[in-house]
Amino acid sequence: MSQSRASMDEPHNGPSGNDALSAAERRAFIQIARGKQAAESVFRNCRVVNVFSNEVYEADVAIAYGRVAGIGRPGTYTGVKSIDCGGHYLVPGLIEAHTHVEDALLVPGEFVRALAPHGTTTCISDPHEIANVSGVPGLRWMLAASEHLPLRLMLTLPSCVPASPYESAGASLTASDLAPLAAHPLIASVGEVMNYPGVLEGDQTLLDVIALSQPATVTPRGLAVDGHAPELMGLDLCGYVAAGVQSDHESVSAAEALEKLRLGMWLWVREGSTRNLDELLPIILEHAPERCGFVADDRTPGDLLREGDLDAIIRKAVGKGLDPIQAIRMASLHPAQYFGFTNRGAIAPGYLADLLVVPDLRNFRPRQVYVGGQLIAEDGQALFTAPALPSDWTEAVERTVRLRDFSVERLRLPGQSGTARVIGLIHDQIVTEDRRVEVQSHNGQIISDPERDILKIAVVERYGGGRVGVGLLHGLRLRKGGDGLIRCSRCP
Ligand SMILES: [Zn+2]
Repeated sequence: MSQSRASMDEPHNGPSGNDALSAAERRAFIQIARGKQAAESVFRNCRVVNVFSNEVYEADVAIAYGRVAGIGRPGTYTGVKSIDCGGHYLVPGLIEAHTHVEDALLVPGEFVRALAPHGTTTCISDPHEIANVSGVPGLRWMLAASEHLPLRLMLTLPSCVPASPYESAGASLTASDLAPLAAHPLIASVGEVMNYPGVLEGDQTLLDVIALSQPATVTPRGLAVDGHAPELMGLDLCGYVAAGVQSDHESVSAAEALEKLRLGMWLWVREGSTRNLDELLPIILEHAPERCGFVADDRTPGDLLREGDLDAIIRKAVGKGLDPIQAIRMASLHPAQYFGFTNRGAIAPGYLADLLVVPDLRNFRPRQVYVGGQLIAEDGQALFTAPALPSDWTEAVERTVRLRDFSVERLRLPGQSGTARVIGLIHDQIVTEDRRVEVQSHNGQIISDPERDILKIAVVERYGGGRVGVGLLHGLRLRKGGDGLIRCSRCP
């Protein structure tokens, strides 16, 4: 490794990437861009992937103040440091538009260590899970843990805490709770609006949260509003969009995805531990990917380890016929445009020097990953350690599982052998089916039957209320538990 390790003390490389240049720095930046002054570093011997013009060409890229200063013919620029890209592609850093740190079962610093080798340089995480448990103090902790990371981890304002009125939750958040956080530089959007029935009924509490997206003194650029509306179509979809929701990552069918595109929504393909690329790719190929992108959303740590991040989605989409440059645009420029980030998602003067060196655009595996011009990952390894966890707000996020009256007796499901209602899982999908299957009982208790893929499932309320719900699940294909990485038998 010839380059220095990422240092978060350097100016202009803050996590939001919005640190302004001083007047003197701006003057110097212009002269560096013109080749009149030496750059801090120059990427040489590379083929630049230009996502504005859909071209690839040989060029040198000059870096200063954590940004791209200029792009010129090979040999144009001088720099204090020279980075030889070995003839490989230079690609803009990838932007994850919607995921959840909590699903990876990692703290933010370890989460970004896992993402960094895969080329994700900006990641937007909706912290609604920690918010459900710990409310605003949990969000404060998450924001504190997301600052000072070598990778740009940003968060959303969770719009649906709890997700619906039927849910037990540790907190209930309103617009007045969230408003003080709206101007935080790491807040990227109003998080996924899952309670679409509430939106359609005009639930004022929910509409007030969506209204936090409007440009105001505290958030002059305004915020995007993320959606979550599986199978919502027709006039109800019009109502949802009319409420101000701008994107969706939950399309189940191609017809639904096309309706969402037609109504001006940004269409995110979700390929985490649930997937819809196969259903949506024909729409993208036929109608152009201009308003489309990729997200991981919920992903188990096992899937993250085995498959990767946005790089894995690019490989899969390209393998199914999407042009590689279009796939890169969908994971860089398009999410940047959606969030209103004018400083990332492409390689151009003034853009953050978040760059990937990639040997092969079809088998997309970044060899080197740079954030703000600093090397943060190489050959599949992150080159940094996770910083210490924040000391502020820790009480809110520790010892939050409070069970009451819980014992193995509470996991029993009284009943006789015969036909029973079960939750039917659909492989790779978030939606479920209402199924009837034959079940067996033993001593008056319905029992799991892994050979026939019928398992018991329990929801144990963790807030001290003592409620336990026990039901039956069909379709998980889990044969045994306990190895920490839940795998289904159909996954490789
Ligand atoms: Zn989500």
